[in-house]
Amino acid sequence: EETDLRRFIATLCSAFQSQADQRQMEYHIMFDDGNGAGVVDRDKIEKIIYNLLSNAFKFTPDGGRVDVEVRKPSDLVIRIRDNGIGISSAHIPFVFDRFYQVDTSSTRFREGTGIGLALAKELAETHKGSLQVISTEGKGSEFILAVPVDREHYHADDFTQASGKKDMVDPRYRESV
Ligand code: ATP
Ligand code: MG
Repeated sequence: EETDLRRFIATLCSAFQSQADQRQMEYHIMFDDGNGAGVVDRDKIEKIIYNLLSNAFKFTPDGGRVDVEVRKPSDLVIRIRDNGIGISSAHIPFVFDRFYQVDTSSTRFREGTGIGLALAKELAETHKGSLQVISTEGKGSEFILAVPVDREHYHADDFTQASGKKDMVDPRYRESV
């Protein structure tokens, strides 16, 4: 059935509002003014957005800024932008690889295992969409998710089959899969 995408995405994003407040960060969500209804696999979209937002907040210092821009010309396009540490061009080709992390030094203070983006990209592709990155070291990053949300693209069976690759699922989320 159709989802009110605007409401659904706003609710997902609001989970990070208290962190933004506590860390004096600017956090804005912008929607275009088109019709915001579509057919999506909510579970997949939720996991993708959660991973991208947790990265944006993790790799942006206190006082920084995170923006979410949502448009639906035909596909649903969600851009998550931060002005954090960014990613150098040498690392960009690998950030979607499983377990790849730019900073693996022992002094590394950021948590994680390097699975979030691999999972997010896999979920975007099983949703017949794409996930791309644009980033400049020292300036910030932008992750762009695009997924079709019209009924013709949605075959629940495909999705179930594709997500049968259970080993791609982050153990933290496994119970909800
Ligand atoms: P996990 O997601 O498993 O908790 P993680 O966040 O380190 O761990 P990914 O989400 O897969 O792993 O991201 C891979 C790497 O890409 C990160 O370790 C980081 O080096 C880089 N990265 C991802 N998002 C950003 C971002 N918004 N800004 C800067 N670097 C990022
Ligand atoms: Mg992550």
